[in-house]
Amino acid sequence: MKVKLPMVSELTLNNRKDLACVLSEMIDVGRKVVERGLAVGSGGNLSFRVPGTKTFLITGTGTQLDQLNKDSFAEVNLNGEVTGSIKPSSEFRVHLESYVARPDIDVCIHLHPQASVLTAALNLPIKFLTVDHVYYVRNVVRIPWMRAGTQEIADATALAVKRSNVVILENHGCVVLAPSVQLAYTRVLNLEEASELTLRCHDLGIIPTEVPKAYWEYLEANNL
Ligand SMILES: [Zn+2]
Repeated sequence: MKVKLPMVSELTLNNRKDLACVLSEMIDVGRKVVERGLAVGSGGNLSFRVPGTKTFLITGTGTQLDQLNKDSFAEVNLNGEVTGSIKPSSEFRVHLESYVARPDIDVCIHLHPQASVLTAALNLPIKFLTVDHVYYVRNVVRIPWMRAGTQEIADATALAVKRSNVVILENHGCVVLAPSVQLAYTRVLNLEEASELTLRCHDLGIIPTEVPKAYWEYLEANNL
């Protein structure tokens, strides 16, 4: 039996202030991802868990990511019910299953960044050339192509995000998770930069020196 989940309109004052803050950060990130070519217009969707609830807000269907405002987001609860008047992106199930699978994350960014998609299409393992690439991207899990908007792709994403914060949907885009908007955005930037440099090495036909294993071991030993 489904439990009734509180709606955004039932938020406490403190959670309402937190919501305004996250919303403003997300609107900012929407503009920046389009400016940086990580998404073309409405190619992708952004979501975040509403503080103190079992509900997330996700960009509405057909929304231009560089023109977001506080009314651009649809409200969906973790039962998958749309509780507001805005219709969510057709890819909302990927976000929904990610939040269900990962109670520790509050932000999910799905974009169609060119270098990340091309690296996967060429079957090139991503090269980690800076410590930021290692720190922010770490493990990348790839999911074979499935039709966007289906429960199948959402279920595959849910399995993948149990192993990684960074997922590539082949011939489609990426799904990046984090506990905050800024961290999610930084992860996306580093994923795309590492992918671009991987492609550049591939074009040049050279195998670069990557960040030494000692740094990976340092992060693991210190739980970072
Ligand atoms: Zn997509």
